[in-house]
Amino acid sequence: MTKIEHIGIAVKDLESANKVYAALLGKPHYKVESVESEGVDTSFFQCGESKIELLAATNPESPIAKFIEKRGEGIHHIAFAVDDIEAEIDRLKKEGFRVLNETPKQGADNKIIAFLHPKSSNGVLVELCQERN
Ligand code: ZN
Repeated sequence: MTKIEHIGIAVKDLESANKVYAALLGKPHYKVESVESEGVDTSFFQCGESKIELLAATNPESPIAKFIEKRGEGIHHIAFAVDDIEAEIDRLKKEGFRVLNETPKQGADNKIIAFLHPKSSNGVLVELCQERN
């Protein structure tokens, strides 16, 4: 893993959260993107070499809707950049981590991604993400 690529934050309302995070970080988001397969609208803020990803549900079945229902708004996941996601998945499985999707999937921001179950990482949902070439 090479750096913290982004921190994902679950929000109820993307538009109002965009204003809050623009004020916090001192600059506007640089991108909005919908990931239809995940039922989320996202927006991204650059902060140094890392990013903040705001996530809002687009339907009640979305994992983000369920997360907010259970735990309220807040930090949803931490994403680590990896150079070779398949190799990292193999390595982490051998280390005993539970990988939620062993076949990497398309994520927002031109990434292929995989998640680790929070139970295997002390309650934190971990995302691995590799830049698509
Ligand atoms: Zn993410």
